[in-house]
Amino acid sequence: MDDLDKLKTELFECRECRDLFGFEPRPVCMGNSGAKIVQVSQAPSIHVHNTGRSFNDISGRRLRNEWYEISEEVFYDPDIFYITSVGHCYPGKSKNKGDNPPPKICAQKWLSREIDMVRNKMFILVGKAAADFFFPKSDFTDLVFSDHTIKGRPAYVIPHPSPLNVRWFKEHPEFEKERIVEIRDTLHDLIFDQYA
Ligand code: SF4
Repeated sequence: MDDLDKLKTELFECRECRDLFGFEPRPVCMGNSGAKIVQVSQAPSIHVHNTGRSFNDISGRRLRNEWYEISEEVFYDPDIFYITSVGHCYPGKSKNKGDNPPPKICAQKWLSREIDMVRNKMFILVGKAAADFFFPKSDFTDLVFSDHTIKGRPAYVIPHPSPLNVRWFKEHPEFEKERIVEIRDTLHDLIFDQYA
């Protein structure tokens, strides 16, 4: 058991937000310290909360099938992807259409320590909450269409694949036509040696 495994054991027992949520929190993250890619998103959906499996929902299917073009086998390989989020638990439904924002305390308490323990070669930030954590006060769309680094490693920002995110996709068709193709090529280069 390495340091990340020990941290995850502690994380899975975290119930810090029980009173805030009004239900039993279920922390979710997946992957090993040797994973090639760290993917950080906003927070688990209700489906992920119910199953304990990251991106096991409609957003995950779009991410894997249409954007990354990889199989579930690759996506859930713990030596390929370390899958985590700014908030590790489903945060409950908001009064509007979506879910509540992730509790701020979660990233401070867990995310920074997690990513220090993974020897990844690439970061992918999914959605605005993850982008804001790493690049505060930056324009989200500018972040999507430019290359970045985190800890000296390549980092890419992509929109959340949620079907609720319709407006952004209508306003930025070049994301699915061009930008994701560039990111996918880099992603495939990283995983190609194992799955060629
Ligand atoms: S959201 Fe984060 S801080 Fe809150 S209970 Fe879950 S793991 Fe703990």
